[in-house]
Amino acid sequence: MNMDLSRRSFLKLTGAGVAATSMGALGFSEAEAAEIAHVRPFKLATTTETRQTCPYCSVACGIIIYSKGDVRKGDNAEVMHIEGDVDHPTNRGTLCPKGAALKDFVKSPTRLLYPMHRKPGSDKFERMSWDEALDRIARLMKDDRDANFLARNEKGLDVNRWTTTGMLAASATSNETAWATFKFAKSIGIVGFDNQARV
Ligand code: SF4
Repeated sequence: MNMDLSRRSFLKLTGAGVAATSMGALGFSEAEAAEIAHVRPFKLATTTETRQTCPYCSVACGIIIYSKGDVRKGDNAEVMHIEGDVDHPTNRGTLCPKGAALKDFVKSPTRLLYPMHRKPGSDKFERMSWDEALDRIARLMKDDRDANFLARNEKGLDVNRWTTTGMLAASATSNETAWATFKFAKSIGIVGFDNQARV
């Protein structure tokens, strides 16, 4: 049986059956079938679940991203839904309004998807590859550090400071990633180090 059944018509159908005959012969199976036909399949049943961390702030809430297709199998995955991860110890499935709107962030037409470079004197950004971007960053860091690294201060004390380049890291990471990032910055002498959580 294929029919669109509202709550009101379902009650009417079952109610009419009860009134018309005994329970055994009232056509209850027909009402049940109609109700089953009315229920839509769970929209996330065929999606791939990926656990992630909300990128916005240092609370670092756990999220589950539901997508059609699986990038691990080479598919072009499309994000269908994002919700809080009930198994995550930080947020237990809850999200603040920013986290709850993460799907819009993922699908925003202004979202940055690849490195962009505005050359000196230019008025526009141009796309570049990750290899080009990382090579350029490494080259500029090396040149600046070679020129400005201060191993000792005027009193002859070891200070190992590099004050002419700063580093902006992300706070929405695990403790281990944050530890490794901080150690990297300090091991090359960077003093100016910050992230969006200001910790
Ligand atoms: S959901 Fe809200 S509180 Fe949680 S990490 Fe994202 S922005 Fe921060």
